[in-house]
Amino acid sequence: MSTIAENITALRRSLPPDVTLVAVSKYHPDPDLMEAYNAGQRVFGENLVQEMRQKQADLPDDIQWHFIGHLQTNKVKYIAPYVALIHSVDSLRLLREIDRQAAKNDRIIDVLLQIHVAAEETKFGFTPHECLDMLAGGEWRQCDHVRICGLMGMATNTDDEQRIRQDFTTLRNLFQELKEGVFAESSAFAIRSYGMSHDYPLAIEEGANMVRVGTRIFGERVYNT
Ligand SMILES: *Cc1c(COP(=O)(O)O)cnc(C)c1O
Repeated sequence: MSTIAENITALRRSLPPDVTLVAVSKYHPDPDLMEAYNAGQRVFGENLVQEMRQKQADLPDDIQWHFIGHLQTNKVKYIAPYVALIHSVDSLRLLREIDRQAAKNDRIIDVLLQIHVAAEETKFGFTPHECLDMLAGGEWRQCDHVRICGLMGMATNTDDEQRIRQDFTTLRNLFQELKEGVFAESSAFAIRSYGMSHDYPLAIEEGANMVRVGTRIFGERVYNT
């Protein structure tokens, strides 16, 4: 079996230079993260507030913590002081709360809008239509302590390559539409975060420039803790 260091080194070598790797370390213990860290990885993704807080306190200060899970408004305050990027903004209400907590911490927080493109109903996020509506509403412009840096999404969980490609294409097209429209003046609007362990090569072919990979680096997660 290959080690975490070997996995991450091979993965990083295989990615085009303009693609950022988020090492999704949720449910994995600190020593596993340190192995990736010592292999040069600095960007880690977590999906539980409590777990990310603990790891942030324990691990080196130069780690960039990305929050990738569903975020409840009442928990934003716990990650606002240090989070590098929140991938999972799925409502105007959440955006406003991030803005409020960022202001309290005297910083600007980078975020992505999470877009629901998968066939599963359980996934969070704006539909493309809801996203366009929210942005057209213009209220988000008052949130001057958040910077909307792009889109995040997940493809349908399927072996059907066509369907996965189609989901990624939907994300790519929406990104392009916004880049030429609402965000035409924003150089920060540049991130396309899609692709996970089983579908990141397809995601990159379909325009992703940030991939979130867990299992392929750290192995299977054990949830019964
Ligand atoms: C867990 C998770 C990933 C990584 O999944 P793997 O299949 O382990 O690579 C990526 N994105 C999100 C939002 C996740 O929750």
